[in-house]
Amino acid sequence: MNKKSLIKILRSAQYVRTGGSRSELKCAEYIKSIVDSTGYEAELESFPVPMSEGLEQLLEVDGVSIPCKGYLCCETADITAPLIYLPEPDRSCLLDCKGKIVMIDGYLRRWVYKDLVENGAVGFITYSGNMNYPDRDIDLRELRELIKGDQKELPGVNINVKDAMKLAGMNGRTVHMQVSQSQYEGSSHNLVLTIPGELEKTIIFTAHYDSTALSSGAYDNMSGSVGLIAAAERFASSRPRHTLKFIWCGSEERGLLGSKAYCQAHESELENAVLVINLDMIGSSMGKFIACCTSEPSLVSYISYMSKELGFPVRASQGVYSSDSTPFSDKGVPSVSFARLAPDGTGDIHNRYDTAGLLRPEQLAADIGFVLEFSQRMISSHVCPVERVIPDNMKEELDYYLLRKKKPDVIK
Ligand SMILES: [Zn+2]
Repeated sequence: MNKKSLIKILRSAQYVRTGGSRSELKCAEYIKSIVDSTGYEAELESFPVPMSEGLEQLLEVDGVSIPCKGYLCCETADITAPLIYLPEPDRSCLLDCKGKIVMIDGYLRRWVYKDLVENGAVGFITYSGNMNYPDRDIDLRELRELIKGDQKELPGVNINVKDAMKLAGMNGRTVHMQVSQSQYEGSSHNLVLTIPGELEKTIIFTAHYDSTALSSGAYDNMSGSVGLIAAAERFASSRPRHTLKFIWCGSEERGLLGSKAYCQAHESELENAVLVINLDMIGSSMGKFIACCTSEPSLVSYISYMSKELGFPVRASQGVYSSDSTPFSDKGVPSVSFARLAPDGTGDIHNRYDTAGLLRPEQLAADIGFVLEFSQRMISSHVCPVERVIPDNMKEELDYYLLRKKKPDVIK
């Protein structure tokens, strides 16, 4: 596939496509219309996702209203309580949360949420954005099941960082917070294309095609989705040795919901899966190309050797990548995620600035070229050289990533 066609597809899907929305499905159908021309018919597999509608929200501090967006899937509430800003959720500070609405830094993570609930917080505020940018966008966040766990539900809102900076100095002021919405079960979709090979052993390719609420997700991750289209077109042209599955995953941004649903629905088939090749954010104008291998270290060496052989720099390492490869590795299938990580200021994601302009067509084509080269070797291998095992150090990383265990705090 040439550069022009890659960019054309990328631009045609440049719209917000959040998990479970009409526009997400529209994008899946669009990808299907392209890959069906390989002669194999891709299937749309739906899976349930929690949805909200009629979201209403209000945030007032000492009677002054602050623009906010209520957290999706959090409880309906109308509360008034003092504000506290908690940049450091250590035990001494957490004692001050009782009966308060707590503003925290960064994403609401499970362990922070648990700390807030256990220490008697009554609501939370998060913020997003960059104070140097001209916009006042507010991202739409969600109180995910994985954050909540078995804790009680707290109401929460997200605000723009410019307002957060003001609130940081307002500890003790009175906050009035209202959130209401109705919740229902919706559906999101994985698009699955199967190319039968000589062997039953299967190599799976994944890339998510959904975006977050403010983003048209060109870099994150129509870039990887386009890479998968190119791979499907290339490998459909002759019968491969390994059977191939290409999965364009939905609702990745909502917590890898598509890949988790796939692994659940196809658990027995995964016994034949020998490797997952995932693409999440490639082709950025700047930055390093990485290969994150949830596998034995020998795959890291293999990719490093290959990169030198081809003169295409790749920083390969063992690790768990926050993307659709992870649920598969959690089921015992080794994986590699490829990405080109844009340096700060050159490739913002999850906001309005993630557009096709962040990508360089030549770089996108080169990144896909390397992935195809690697994939070709795996696909045509007599037996897949990657041992089908998840080593203990990676199992531990999976436990941390999937929130089964809390990573010990490292004091630097
Ligand atoms: Zn992504």
